[in-house]
Amino acid sequence: MIAPMRRLVTVHFLLIACLLAACVAPITPPEKFSVITHPDGPLYASDQVSFEVLPPSGFESEGHEVQVSLDDRELGRAGFGPYGVAGRTEATLWWAWDTRDLQPGPETLTFTILPDGPTWQETVTFHPQSGVPPPEPEAHWAVLTSDCCALNYITGTAAGRDIASLAQVADEQAADLTARMGKNLNEKIQVVFMPRVLGNGGFTGNAIYVSYLDSAYLGNATAQVLHHEFVHWFDALAGGDLRPTLFQEGLAVYLSGGHFKPEPLIPRATTLLELGWYIPLRTLADDFYPQQHEIGYLEAAALVEYLVETYGWEAFDAFYRDIHATPDGRDSQAIDAALRKHFQITFAELEGSYLEFLRGQTVPSNVRDDLRLSVQFYDTVRRYQQALDPSAYFMTAWLPDYMMMSQRGIVADFLRHPSGVDNSLIEAMLVNADHSLRAGEYNQAERTLKGVNVLLAVLTAGK
Ligand SMILES: [Zn+2]
Repeated sequence: MIAPMRRLVTVHFLLIACLLAACVAPITPPEKFSVITHPDGPLYASDQVSFEVLPPSGFESEGHEVQVSLDDRELGRAGFGPYGVAGRTEATLWWAWDTRDLQPGPETLTFTILPDGPTWQETVTFHPQSGVPPPEPEAHWAVLTSDCCALNYITGTAAGRDIASLAQVADEQAADLTARMGKNLNEKIQVVFMPRVLGNGGFTGNAIYVSYLDSAYLGNATAQVLHHEFVHWFDALAGGDLRPTLFQEGLAVYLSGGHFKPEPLIPRATTLLELGWYIPLRTLADDFYPQQHEIGYLEAAALVEYLVETYGWEAFDAFYRDIHATPDGRDSQAIDAALRKHFQITFAELEGSYLEFLRGQTVPSNVRDDLRLSVQFYDTVRRYQQALDPSAYFMTAWLPDYMMMSQRGIVADFLRHPSGVDNSLIEAMLVNADHSLRAGEYNQAERTLKGVNVLLAVLTAGK
């Protein structure tokens, strides 16, 4: 009953998208400085506004600062440095502009690169404070303390509504890891529920940040994402030295029994070989994050499972916590040295036996379809984020510190996101694709994803 309706909706979306194509603004030419303001979407008088200033390619950023001024008043200045997972060079001015005394309408800012220019102006338009979307302006930070965690959330959001059951879920996931990793928490884990999809739905910094909202296009995988991020927390508590990314992420997916849902890791890794998607382990170890995300995480998790099955948990754990940096700075060399010491094998020999093990597995067809379409789904999500919600794209995501937000009474950076019609259309289609995928309706998922990709191609044509 649902499928025909979804098809209709898809066609409808495509038609509307064609009409929207003309509304997409061209990107700033790369030879100029460009400015991104936050919070995303329209700005309202009373917002606390941040700026990301991106230099043109080839700009020698060392020794330069950017200064932002309104009339003759300096709002702030900052030097250039690497930002985000991508290490993108930019100057970041966090909440530099408190606009609570401004009237609605346009304001012209002057940006100056110090010490030797250039100088340029940007006009920002403010909407009346009365138009700020709900749950603002009442929304504020709150915290609920459970056995494991301090659960931080914004009132008036889905997390605020569900906080008691979320606390229960968090406690269950943490109790599982206390039992499996033999470590007790010495302090509460700080968890932050974000009412916005950022990156892949969760990340760990000074707290564990998890996206939680109704109709999130990454699906409702809160328990899985919390478990994954809690593994990183317990992993850090358990100590070690280098802890290569390959094993940190592999361990998180392995102990969580899957990446975004429970899934059979070894048969899925075998499918990588069949599809020609396998990444050589040295490449993965030395350059983990730039690889295709789902493939890298799966391959790492299956490798951890293989090591645990071959040598046992205790031996794997002892090996993993005894990996030390080598002079060339390459994780593959460090792993090789530790493998020789603990298991008397080289990294190449481990890969040889891992591959042999994988080739000996049989793969059910639904596992193959699920993996193929999962990779396509998350690639499409990232393509959407890069094109139409760039602050959500994990390589350069806008990830404000919740403690600073809480201290300064700021909620907008997590509450607002690009809310144009094109965003709503594509996100609704991604929600459909996610439901189809999780229900095993692979043909339907594939059709919807095709629709999203056609739409994105239309919307980004000429960009
Ligand atoms: Zn992780």
